[in-house]
This record gives sequence, structure tokens and C-alpha cells, in this order.
Amino acid sequence: MRAAVLRDQKTGVRIEQVDLEKPREGEVRVQMVGAGACHSDYHRVSGHVEFGLVPYVLGHEGSGVVREVGSGVTTVEPGDHVILSLTAQCGRCRNCHAGRPNLCEWWVLGKGTLPGGRRPFTKDGVPLYADLATFAEETVVAESYLVKIRKDVPLAKACLIGCGVMTGVGAVLNRAKVETGSTVVVIGCGGVGMNVVQGAVLANAGKIIAVDKVKFKLDMAHSIGATHMIDASKEDPVKRVMEITDGGADYAFEVIGFPQTVRQAFDCIRPGGTCVMVGVPPKGGEVSVPGMPLFWDRTVMGTFYGAGRPRTDFPWMLDLYASGRLKLDELATKVRPIEEVNQAFDDMNKGVTVRTVFTFG
Ligand SMILES: [Zn+2]
Ligand SMILES: [Zn+2]
Repeated sequence: MRAAVLRDQKTGVRIEQVDLEKPREGEVRVQMVGAGACHSDYHRVSGHVEFGLVPYVLGHEGSGVVREVGSGVTTVEPGDHVILSLTAQCGRCRNCHAGRPNLCEWWVLGKGTLPGGRRPFTKDGVPLYADLATFAEETVVAESYLVKIRKDVPLAKACLIGCGVMTGVGAVLNRAKVETGSTVVVIGCGGVGMNVVQGAVLANAGKIIAVDKVKFKLDMAHSIGATHMIDASKEDPVKRVMEITDGGADYAFEVIGFPQTVRQAFDCIRPGGTCVMVGVPPKGGEVSVPGMPLFWDRTVMGTFYGAGRPRTDFPWMLDLYASGRLKLDELATKVRPIEEVNQAFDDMNKGVTVRTVFTFG
């Protein structure tokens, strides 16, 4: 079975033939249909964040069909269509009980194993690390990571809900709770940023100001619903936001992952406004803001996975898609076989794609 394996951050990712053990109690084997190339996958390759586990089967955004269930599995059965969730949603820990399954304490993403420590992928008998391993023809995950979905939406596109849409739309609706008529700035219009724009549209924000350095992304943000576009390679985003909003936005979302751009987002908001850090910060990165503006009722907010409640949120997001109110097809700007994983990362770095979806045919 083919899988995209990272063995060394210098040599990058290679497609390898690997073996996958059968699902055990509480586990499910899923045949992948679509997998999105997220910047967080590349962060691992580039070293922007340090997970340090190699050899590692990449991928955390994906959708597929259940092929086999282990004993005790009750919420899915073979043939079901599923999206993989980033979070364990165990349903038993404090955060799950508090309605915050994105912070589930059973969380194992980043540990590279199934809950309990098992590693079902092997190569020549040697275990490989993996979290969700969506960049493989098949994967085995704990049941609680799966969300069963309606069968009448294209499964390959539905994968985008699993990370990019949940993170971006969720940051706006679940975490920041943007009110109707608010002014919203989005700094960084990649796969997640485009979904922050989309979330702002769903929240009925008034002015939606997209900031990026790539014209193609600004054009797409406009087509998704941004009302103003700022090319940060040509003009000062903070100065321009102040002009457009007459003194600052209500919300500014940083969707890149740098302390400098979080600061820029903070500088875009008015007294009482909220700066939301959506991008993954670099290892060791510290965010700082000036004290006096913060004193004026401004808020700096982090958000992980759009405060997502996958079993609640994925179904309504797909309902919105099915009725034309949520865009997925437009976001999947490129479809490639998984063999072209490195080309997809190249596209991402050149800024010529918003999201590449891998297929496994
Ligand atoms: Zn992601
Ligand atoms: Zn939990």
C-alpha cells in the first residue's frame, strides 16, 4: 500500500510501499478518497514546527470509506462515508464535557501513535509514526476520530472540512463569534484564510478585508465574498485598514503563523476589537502587543481547530455545501495523485494553489 512518508527533513517526502495492521478494539480502517495538502503538513517538512517524529506517514485532512471495524465499534460500519477529525472527541474528558472537544484531553495528534501508543503502519516490520495518516491509501484510526457524513456529497471534496474549513470557518463562528455587521480583516488568504473569509460571509460581516501578497489569492478571496482586497506587497495593510474602517476593524484574523503578522492584525483593530491568531506559530515564537492599546478593551485570542465540535459542525457544514452556501469546489484549486505530494508542496510555497486535494486511484 502506498503512503507519503517523511524520513528526513532534508530529503523531503517519498512515496513508499508500507504495511498496515488490522484495526483492533475501538479502531477503524478507512480507505482514503480525498486528502487535502495543508500548510501544517509542510510545516513538519520545513521545520517551522518541531514534531521530530520520523519516519512519519503524513496527512491530517482527509475523507474516505470505512472498510473494516474492530470490536466494540458502534458509530460507523463498513461502507460509511467519513471525514477524519483532528481531535479525539473522547466524550469523557473535562473539555469534551464542557463542549470543547477540540481541546479533548485524549488528544494524541503530534504523538504519532494511536491512543495507547500503537503504531499500525510498518515498513519491513519497523513501525512508522503517523497521526491520521491521510496521505496513505488506507489508514487505521480510533473510532472517535471519525465523523460519519451524508453520502450525497462528493467525498473527495468533503475532506476539506476536516481541517481547513473547520479551522477557518470555526475561528469566525465558534471562537470569535463575529456579529452581523462587524468589520473583519483576514491576513493571509491560503487554504485556511480563505475559510476565514468564508466564515465572515456566513456571519454576515459588513466589510471583509482580505490581505495577501499574491494577486490570485486576493482575486479568489473577492470571489468568496471579501469586499476589500489589500496587496501587502504594495501597500501598508494597517494604514489601509484604518482608512477603510475609519479607525480600525472589529476583528482581525492572522492566518499565516508569524508573530509579526499577529502584531499587524492587532494593530488593525479598534478599541474593543479582537485579534485572533489562527496561523500556527513557529517553534519558540512569542507574540507581543503594546500595553496601552490592549488596555482599551482589545482582546488577543488564540484558536485551535476553530473551536471545532466535529460531530456537530461537519454535518451542518456539509448541509451548507449541499445547498450552495458553503464553497468547497472553488477551494480545491488542484487535484493530484498522491505521488505528486512534493509538487503540491512546491505549488503551496509558490502561492499558485489554495488547496491541493490528493486522490488515491
Ligand atoms: Zn491542517
Ligand atoms: Zn475528550
